[in-house]
Amino acid sequence: MRRKEKAVRNDAKEVFARLFSAIPDPHIELDYADPWQLLIATILSAQSTDKRVNEVTPQLFARHPDPRSLGEAKQEEVEALVKSTGFFRNKAKAIRAASKMITERFGQEVPKTIEELVELPGVARKTANLVLAGGYGIASGIVIDTHARRVAQRLGLTKEEDPEKIEADLMGQIDRQDWIAVGLALILHGRYLCTARAPSCATCPLNEPCKSRESRPEGTWKQRADKERELIPKKR
Ligand code: SF4
Repeated sequence: MRRKEKAVRNDAKEVFARLFSAIPDPHIELDYADPWQLLIATILSAQSTDKRVNEVTPQLFARHPDPRSLGEAKQEEVEALVKSTGFFRNKAKAIRAASKMITERFGQEVPKTIEELVELPGVARKTANLVLAGGYGIASGIVIDTHARRVAQRLGLTKEEDPEKIEADLMGQIDRQDWIAVGLALILHGRYLCTARAPSCATCPLNEPCKSRESRPEGTWKQRADKERELIPKKR
């Protein structure tokens, strides 16, 4: 391994060690009881917040408890149920069509491969990775959403812009057994600390190895990791 590559890998190792110390139990903040519910919640979360989706899904799943029921539901009824998540016409269409396909082609079971998942309406690679990770514990790749993308770029873990290329870059820097955890941890770090508008660099445990830090660190990185652990809401 050339010296430069080795240095990059060592930096990444340091970043991931600190990230997992601050976020030892990375989790999905959407509420769900099974892979299908996670799929539907994830489609609804586009351009919305997990909090807003969690307000909507209890009623949606009470009215339509399985893929067959939602797949057969009327468009207008589903639109009304998901309206507050935004882009509700397209989302209602996508969750009905995905549920219909899951019923007709997959016997009401969400498929377990990324190739089959991305065939479902409204499902791209990010959603497929998240559903496989949270629904089945399958590490098909690394979930790269807008937060994970921004944090990976700021940390200097990638120079890419395209989420699939960012994912490939990260997959080369961390063992497969940590793929699920690292994606979820980057999302939480971006949501609560390394925010788009005002990253909290002074209190960030990743400050020293970060290529984009905007201020000097306070205290030790372990103290900052302790604070971040307190900041991130626990899994419900
Ligand atoms: S030091 Fe700042 S830019 Fe770097 S990861 Fe932390 S909060 Fe984000």
